[in-house]
Amino acid sequence: MRRKWVGGNWKMHGSRAMATALVGAIVEASVEGVDVVLCPPAPYLREVCAECAGSSISVGGQDLSEHESGAYTGEISAAMLRDVGCTHALAGHSERRQFHGETDAQVAAKVAQALAHGLTPVLCVGETLAEREAGRTADVVSRQLGAVVAHCGIAAFARIVVAYEPVWAIGTGRTASPAQAQEVHAFLRSQLARDDARIAGSIRIVYGGSVKPGNSAELFAEADIDGGLIGGAALQATDFLSICAAAG
Ligand code: PEP
Repeated sequence: MRRKWVGGNWKMHGSRAMATALVGAIVEASVEGVDVVLCPPAPYLREVCAECAGSSISVGGQDLSEHESGAYTGEISAAMLRDVGCTHALAGHSERRQFHGETDAQVAAKVAQALAHGLTPVLCVGETLAEREAGRTADVVSRQLGAVVAHCGIAAFARIVVAYEPVWAIGTGRTASPAQAQEVHAFLRSQLARDDARIAGSIRIVYGGSVKPGNSAELFAEADIDGGLIGGAALQATDFLSICAAAG
């Protein structure tokens, strides 16, 4: 039985005061039975890490550089995330792929950087609406996954969380049905099983895309959905905690 995993991606929302209050409420709730990871905006990482210290809540960056260090203005390295207390980093979120032109090769290099610095990468994959409607979902997600397998090796997936996030469901209020999500999760697991059945059986594949308190339990009840990556609903402690409870 895989332990469920719930991440909160705050994106570029909030303020320092809001971050502190939100984390305080989540830490205070002492969530049990589920791995919880908060991904606040970068300027708040250090403070959020300090607030979560000694609790069961982990902290992750929303992105990281594909480079080790150097003249890359504005970038944040894996080593820096580690240095401020992060244990996780999102890689390849669709908003990075869409709005910042991140390629599969760059995402794979980011995953490798995270792994090299002891961070758990949360590898995001997912198709656009046009790709789904053209019947290309499996091709797209297997290409995105395959780029990381090719670059990092299958053994690395023992230390990776995969997030299936259909682009058409992110922040749109339009959620994949449990059956639609389950189909893609099972497909991703089967892709990994071709290389290593043990890793495929133990990896957490979580769903993201308009997960709310009202739909989380039915999504998490699916055999291959091991939790969620939550955007909008992670900005309200009560909503986020209710989603964590559905996973616990
Ligand atoms: C996300 O940001 O990864 C996400 C899934 O957002 P939302 O829950 O708002 O769709």
